[in-house]
Amino acid sequence: MAKIIAVANQKGGVGKTTTAVNLSSCVAALGKKVLIVDLDPQGNTTTGYGIPKRSVEYGTYEVLIGRASAAQAIRHTEYRTDVIGSNTRLAGASLEMIDLPSREGRLRKALAEVQKDYDFIFIDCPPSLDLLTLNGLTACDSVLIPVQCEYYALEGLSELISTLKTIRKKYNPYLDIEGVVFTMFSLRYNLTIQVVEQVQKYFGNKVYQTTIPRSIRISEAPSYGQPINFYEPKGKGSEAYMDLAIEFVKRNRPHEPKKTRGRSAP
Ligand code: ADP
Ligand code: MG
Repeated sequence: MAKIIAVANQKGGVGKTTTAVNLSSCVAALGKKVLIVDLDPQGNTTTGYGIPKRSVEYGTYEVLIGRASAAQAIRHTEYRTDVIGSNTRLAGASLEMIDLPSREGRLRKALAEVQKDYDFIFIDCPPSLDLLTLNGLTACDSVLIPVQCEYYALEGLSELISTLKTIRKKYNPYLDIEGVVFTMFSLRYNLTIQVVEQVQKYFGNKVYQTTIPRSIRISEAPSYGQPINFYEPKGKGSEAYMDLAIEFVKRNRPHEPKKTRGRSAP
C-alpha cells in the first residue's frame, strides 16, 4: 500500500513543484514504484514530466469530479514515475465540488483504488488553502513542507500549522508531518541561519538534513520536460535531490527492532 505524501505550503514560489517533481523522480530511480498527482491548475508538475497540458484528457480535474477513475487518468512517463496530470480546467473543480458529496475527501477515495500499485504517491498542492489543497491534505498520510529561508517563511508556516490542526480535527486524524525541506538554500545570507534555527526549534528532527541549493539547472529542467536526474544526472541539483530521496526512503523504512548493546554471542 502506497504511502501518500502531499507537498504543501500555501506560499507560492517556495519550491513545492520543483521538489515534488524531482523528489518523486529520484525516489523512483531508487527502484520504488511512484505516482505523482498534479493538484495545481497551473500544471507545472505535468509539464515538468514532459506531458503537454492540453494533452491531458483525463486528469486530476476529471478524477475529482468523478468523470474518470484514478486508473483511467494515470499516464506512464519515460521517467519511471506515473503522473496524473492537470491543466487550467482544474481551476473550476473547487466550485464544482461544492455540491458534490464528501467534497474534501474525493481525492482520497479516488486514490484508494490505485494505492496498492505503488510504494509512494506524491501530491503537488497549489499555493492556497482552498478546496483543492484540502483534498490533498485529506488524502495524504503526511505533508512534506518545502521552505525557502526568508523572513516571511515563518509567518506562512504558523498558518500552515493551524490548517493542519484543523484538518486533523475534521477530516484526517492521522495526518503526520513528513518533514521540512529547505529549498534554494544558501548560507551566504545571515538570515538563512536565523530562519533555519527557528524552523528547527519548532520542527525538531522533522527537518531534513539534506538541503536543496539554488541551481540554474534545477530551474531550467522543467522547460525541457525532464526531472533533474534525467536533465543533468551528474550535476549538483541532481545530487541534492538524490540525497533527499535517499533520506526520504530511509526515514520511511519500517522500524527495525532496537539492537541491544554489545555483541551477541555467535
Ligand atoms: P511552488 O511550486 O512552491 O510555487 P516552484 O517549484 O514552482 O514553487 O518554484 C518557484 C520558482 O523557483 C520556479 O521558477 C523554479 O524553477 C525556481 N526554483 C525552485 N527551486 C529552485 C532551485 N533549487 N534553484 C533554482 N531555482 C529554483
Ligand atoms: Mg507549484
